[in-house]
Amino acid sequence: MVNMRLAFLGPPGSGKGTQARILAEEKNLAHISTGDVLREAVKNVTELGKKAKSYMDVGSLVPDDIILGMIKEILRKNKKGFIFDGFPRTAAQAKGLENLLDDLGLKLDAAVNLVVSDDEVLRRLLGRFYCEKCGADFNVNTSPPKVEGICDRCGGKLLQRADDREEVITNRLKVHREKTKPVEDFYRSCNLLLDIDGAQDFAKVTASILETVGRNRS
Ligand code: AMP
Repeated sequence: MVNMRLAFLGPPGSGKGTQARILAEEKNLAHISTGDVLREAVKNVTELGKKAKSYMDVGSLVPDDIILGMIKEILRKNKKGFIFDGFPRTAAQAKGLENLLDDLGLKLDAAVNLVVSDDEVLRRLLGRFYCEKCGADFNVNTSPPKVEGICDRCGGKLLQRADDREEVITNRLKVHREKTKPVEDFYRSCNLLLDIDGAQDFAKVTASILETVGRNRS
C-alpha cells in the first residue's frame, strides 16, 4: 500500500480524521488534512490563514481556487502514497484534483466514504474537546478525560473547537449535503467510491476500511 493514494470523504464528525491518521501510520502514507493545514495557517496568521478564517468561522467552505492552490503545493512534495482527509469537498475540487494528478502522471486509487447520520454527527461533535497545550483529543461520549475539562496527558485546559458549536455544526452539515454529496456521485461514477458504515464501533470501522481498500486493490 506504500504508493496508495486515497481520499477520505464523509461529514464532519464521521471519524475520517482519526481513521485517516491510523491508516496513514500503519501503511506509511502521508496524512494530509486540509482542515489541519488551514487551522495552522489561521493560527500563524499567514496570507492563506487570513483568506480562510472568515469562511471557517461560520462553517462555510474556503473557495476552490484557494484550496486547489494549496493542494498543488502539497502534491509537489508528496508524490508517493497519501491520504487526503476532508478533500475534495466540492465537485470542482474533485475535478481539479484529477487534473493536478494527471499532470503528474498519477491517479487516485479510491475515495473512502464514511457514512454517518446527522444525529450521530451532532452527538459526537458536541462531545468533542482538545487540549490547548498538547492537542490531545477527547470525547465525553467515547473517551472522556479523567477530570472534566483537564487533559489526562499534560494537565492542560480542554477546549471546544470554535466550529463545534451547534449552529455552526448545523451549517457544516448543510454545506456537506449541498456541496460534498456531488463529490460522492463523481467518484461513484468513476467506480472509485467505497462506502463504509462509519457508525460501527471504532475498531470495526478501521478493519472495514483496511479490508475494503485491500480487496479493491487486489
Ligand atoms: P475540517 O477540519 O475538515 O472539518 O475543516 C474545517 C473547516 O476548514 C471547514 O469547515 C472549511 O471551512 C475548511 N475546509 C477544510 N477543508 C476544506 C476543503 N477541502 N474545501 C473547502 N474548505 C475546507
